[in-house]
Amino acid sequence: MQLSPLLLPEMLEAIEQVINNNAEEVTALDQEIGDGDHVFNLQRGLEALINQQKELAELDWVAAWQKIGMTLMSTVGGASGSLYGTFFVSMSKSARGQTLDLQSFANAYSDGVESIKKRGKADVGEKTMLDVLVPVAQCLQQSAAENIDLPATIEQLNAVALAGVEATRDMLATKGRASFLGDRSKGHIDAGAKTAQLMISEINSVLLNHLQT
Ligand code: ADP
Ligand code: MG
Repeated sequence: MQLSPLLLPEMLEAIEQVINNNAEEVTALDQEIGDGDHVFNLQRGLEALINQQKELAELDWVAAWQKIGMTLMSTVGGASGSLYGTFFVSMSKSARGQTLDLQSFANAYSDGVESIKKRGKADVGEKTMLDVLVPVAQCLQQSAAENIDLPATIEQLNAVALAGVEATRDMLATKGRASFLGDRSKGHIDAGAKTAQLMISEINSVLLNHLQT
C-alpha cells in the first residue's frame, strides 16, 4: 500500500487506543496544571474523526487534512481543538498542488506548526504542545535536507518528541491555563506535549509497519 489516506483508519484507531491507554496518566498531569479536560477534548475529536474514517480514507491527503481540521475545529472544545484544527487546515493549504514526498511533507507540517504558533501566540519554551511539535518539524526538515530514509527519520522523530515532552517539566508555563499557576507550573510535564508525542509515535508505528510490508 502506498502511504495514502487509506492508512487513516488504522492511524486513528491506534491514536484512540494510545490516548485511552494513557488517559489516567495524562489527566493526572492535566489536573496538576490545567483544568483536567484535555483527554476528554481529544477523545471527542477522535470519535468524530473515526465516524468519518471511511470518507477520509477515500480522499487525497490535501482534502483529508482539510476535512480533519474542520472537524476538529467544530467538535473539540478547549485550546487544543482550535490549535489542531488550524494545524491540519494549514497543512492542507501548504500541500495543495504538491507531490507529496519527505520535503513537501516537512514543509506542510512546518506550516501547520507555524499556524499553531500564530493562533496560540506561543512558541517553544512555553510548556505547551509546541515543545514537541516544533522540534519534530526541525527534525523533519533536517531529514529531508539530508535525504535520510524514512525508517531512520521515524526513529529520530520519536526520540526528539520524547525529549520535547521531558523538556516541558522544568519550564515555566506562560501560555494557556497552566500560566495562571506561575512558578507552581514548574516540575510537571505538560499534558498537551505528552499527547502530541503519543500521537506522533503511533502515526510513526503505523507508517513503519506499512513500509515493512
Ligand atoms: P484548554 O487549555 O482550553 O483546557 P486543552 O485542555 O484541550 O484546552 O489543551 C491544553 C493543552 O493545549 C496544553 O496542555 C498545551 O499543551 C496546549 N496549549 C494551551 N494553550 C496553548 C497555546 N497558546 N499555544 C500552544 N499550545 C497551547
Ligand atoms: Mg484543558
